[in-house]
Amino acid sequence: MAIKTYEKGDSTHITPNFRAREFDCKGSGCCDQTKIDEKLVGFLQKIRDRFGKPVYILSGYRCPAHNGNTANASKTSKHLQGMAADVTIDGVEPLKIAQYAESIGVLGIGHYDDFVHLDTREKKAFWYSHNQVYRRSFLGYALQEFVCDVQKAIGAKVDGIAGPETLSKTPTISRWRNRKHPVVAAVQKRLYALGYTVVGEVDGIAGRKFDTAVRKFQKEHNCVVEGVITAGEKTWKCLLGEG
Ligand SMILES: [Zn+2]
Ligand SMILES: [Zn+2]
Repeated sequence: MAIKTYEKGDSTHITPNFRAREFDCKGSGCCDQTKIDEKLVGFLQKIRDRFGKPVYILSGYRCPAHNGNTANASKTSKHLQGMAADVTIDGVEPLKIAQYAESIGVLGIGHYDDFVHLDTREKKAFWYSHNQVYRRSFLGYALQEFVCDVQKAIGAKVDGIAGPETLSKTPTISRWRNRKHPVVAAVQKRLYALGYTVVGEVDGIAGRKFDTAVRKFQKEHNCVVEGVITAGEKTWKCLLGEG
């Protein structure tokens, strides 16, 4: 595995579904060569095979001039070394791509609302959105871990099992009540992990996006759709795996 250099526009296939030119710098008149890490293409080919659909590279290699002109781009971006690609797949949620990438060992993953950044760094860094909210994993937030976090936040015995004591101590949370309760962050993480990505960033504050995600969850779990997680009631039971 190595980082190779190609002429811009080179149509050579590096793997069965990826040609060198797909990684070309998207700037115009700024450079005439393209750096591509073979390891990155290997990961992308696996992703291509897994979903069985074209993987579009929105941004691959970036020369220093183009990187400098790219909004939100880091000065040490892996795109500068040909080690990163921002990708989308038609009809596949970015979170699904991030999850699969994690499962095959990609260590640099950024989940954005409309694409996924993947890179071949060697020390793990997972994040969500332009604000770079750190994430331990995209694969989920295990129920037991969630229950422990809730128990810590509400002062219940921390044993990872959601029994009557835990339920009795759950607070009512919503946009309008206890919006900054310590338990909000855990609920945001859990909703996100369950696929309710509209919940947005895990910031510990129940806002408009929290309300939307809770309503969606309630609708799909046959709870009263109100955007409020009421103390001790069905939405809490469903979230805690008891419903
Ligand atoms: Zn360029
Ligand atoms: Zn990127």
